[in-house]
Amino acid sequence: MRTFKSLLIAVSLLGGLTSAFAADKLLSKADLAAANSLRERALADPTSWQLVESLTTEVGARLAGSTGDKAAIQWGLREMNRLGFSNVRAMEVTVPHWVRGEAECAVLAPWPVNIPTLALGGSVGTDPAGVEAEAVMVKDLAALAALPAGAVKDRIVYFSNRMDRTQDGSGYGRAVPVRTQGPSAAAALGARAIVIRSISTGSNRFAHTGALRYQPDVPRIAAFAISNPDADALERQFASGEKVRMRLRSTARDLPPEKSANVIGEIPGTDRANEIVILGAHLDSWDPGVGAIDDGAGVAIMMGVAKLIRELDLKPRRTLRVVLFANEEFGTSGSRTYTTAAQAESVRHVMGFEADFGAGPVWRLSSRVNPNQLPVVEQIQRALAPLKLARGGNAANGGADLDGLTRAGMALLSPDLDGTKYFDVHHTANDTMAQVDPASLRQATAAFAVAAWLAAQYPGEWETVTEAKPARR
Ligand SMILES: [Zn+2]
Repeated sequence: MRTFKSLLIAVSLLGGLTSAFAADKLLSKADLAAANSLRERALADPTSWQLVESLTTEVGARLAGSTGDKAAIQWGLREMNRLGFSNVRAMEVTVPHWVRGEAECAVLAPWPVNIPTLALGGSVGTDPAGVEAEAVMVKDLAALAALPAGAVKDRIVYFSNRMDRTQDGSGYGRAVPVRTQGPSAAAALGARAIVIRSISTGSNRFAHTGALRYQPDVPRIAAFAISNPDADALERQFASGEKVRMRLRSTARDLPPEKSANVIGEIPGTDRANEIVILGAHLDSWDPGVGAIDDGAGVAIMMGVAKLIRELDLKPRRTLRVVLFANEEFGTSGSRTYTTAAQAESVRHVMGFEADFGAGPVWRLSSRVNPNQLPVVEQIQRALAPLKLARGGNAANGGADLDGLTRAGMALLSPDLDGTKYFDVHHTANDTMAQVDPASLRQATAAFAVAAWLAAQYPGEWETVTEAKPARR
């Protein structure tokens, strides 16, 4: 009996201790109430829309190294100052300067037709007369590697691989190797140029560009993308069994590297000001469109979040730092420069957010936190309930710009943007304001604002995450 009683006392003591321990590691009622106000304000606030409208209208396309890129830096500094951010500054970044020029793609036989095309980013041009050769169709890199020796020597290689539509964007990661590695893989076998079916889910005739990666020890050959309907039409020519002859021409070229900049502004923290909650997006864009969804929307969401928190005079405990990264699209030199600089700073990056997947809505909250912090993520999830988010797992990847910080163990909260239609538009001439839905953008801004505010207020430590980072989408 005595034993049972003491056991009861021990259990109740332990229970009391556990809940006392947990309570001081959970978000306060006041912070959660502020999150509610922030959410409601964000759902009615036009700032994110106005920012992406201003960036796409007044600056437009902003490929790394271009005059648009330089104008975007000035735009970012001006708007951050106008919105009242602190410590607004530009961090110099060296970026490549590739010029697209003109591109032409024609089928000469069996049935002549001109096909709208875009050179892949970073590709070399052709001779002025172009490349004319028989074309060989393969599905992907594995199919190319399986061809008999000499099968593509002096030929044009056409990759027919089609991207799957998915909400989380995973179809892109599966399809994109033909763009990044296809040119050198084909060149290593003696091919003279490549054409790919766009890494896109679109059904219009806008070709989709994006960066390739040449291998250093292989000749550089020209590389082109054509839209899905044009790829379908080309494949009908192959299906005839006749030899398909094509001519390709491109004036793409590299110019010397240029200076660009990461644009940075803050809402300073109070008692934990040396801990940074970073809000990242990228300022550069591809050149055929004006980068409204990639990544004007991300820029606008992050600046909108910081503006709302400042305007409500919420005084975050940790410092909220908005970073508009230079050159995400052409090798992430902005991110690498930032990561190196961060190592020399006296502050610590404890939590990351990145918006680089369109203009919303947000459909899910994923995380990458030390399991000790999962109860707080659950609290944040509950604060987001009116926005109807599902709970994702604890294996969030973040985006390309936070890659270095994440590999060093920074925790992530990821309000996941719905990617179902993103790749209809991404990296095409069709990436304009017409693709941005104001209500979805406000919902996304609200989701990021609530999560960022609560991450800044967490009374415990955001501990380092030691698990290996999952593969990028
Ligand atoms: Zn992007």
